[in-house]
Amino acid sequence: MLDIIYRCEMLDAPARPRPADSAAALRRLSEGNRDFAALLDDSVGANVRAQRIVPVDVRDLGLGAGGGKSPDQHPFAAILGCSDARVPLELIFSEGPNDVFVIRVAGNILGSEVLGSLKYAIDHLSGSLKLIVVLGHSGCGAVTAAVDVFLSPSQYLPLATQHSLRAILDSLLIVVQASARQIQSSFGPDVVARPGYRAALIEASIATHAALGAYSIQQEIGAGAPADLQTVYGVYLLESRRVWAPRVGDMTGTGLAEVPRDHAMFAELGKAILQSERIASLLAR
Ligand SMILES: [Zn+2]
Repeated sequence: MLDIIYRCEMLDAPARPRPADSAAALRRLSEGNRDFAALLDDSVGANVRAQRIVPVDVRDLGLGAGGGKSPDQHPFAAILGCSDARVPLELIFSEGPNDVFVIRVAGNILGSEVLGSLKYAIDHLSGSLKLIVVLGHSGCGAVTAAVDVFLSPSQYLPLATQHSLRAILDSLLIVVQASARQIQSSFGPDVVARPGYRAALIEASIATHAALGAYSIQQEIGAGAPADLQTVYGVYLLESRRVWAPRVGDMTGTGLAEVPRDHAMFAELGKAILQSERIASLLAR
């Protein structure tokens, strides 16, 4: 059994400390996800009740001194994630109200509305905002659909006149195509016949798509961004409830990772994704 409790302390309790910089913000999200995942690990088959308390500042709910007024918005991170109901962003990072600025859209696609929302956060919440996160997730339905269209183009025909769905698929197909080329150049053309090829292509595309989203945001906000604002990416694994982010020189890739700084580093990351334990194990099936 387990309890996840959102606990409001007394009205005069000190406010929960907020991350002072991007490194502290990254640490807080990483620890929050680690605690969430560990809580569920501990609860499996245990006779004792596992418990995680997420402190909530009553002032963030409009209570306390100056009650009745709307609280100021002061998130320390902006997170772009998928709409998938299995990936509740505040919950998986052990965060509460007024902690994270959340944008969720199917396939965590970086459209103009999403970018506009992020720009709003950067322009208006820069006093508290330290981190931008792009979070994909394993088994993403949007990416899976794009992979299946790529592997079997006839599946595109029923979608050809559905412009709203096509907008999502079309933007993902580029990443899927690039991932497929990368897999074939790394493992040879025969790799497409392996039983695990489709699953590996889906998961490699999900990781590449999250990293590319973060990279694009970093390039887009460019020089206008506050100096201490960092952009990171990751993939939430539904099966382990942990965030995974393949990176150069790390085959395991636990937790969120810094986005590559330039095109050359991004190309290196593409290779690292395929060399990761997760993708290698899918291809080895
Ligand atoms: Zn998804």
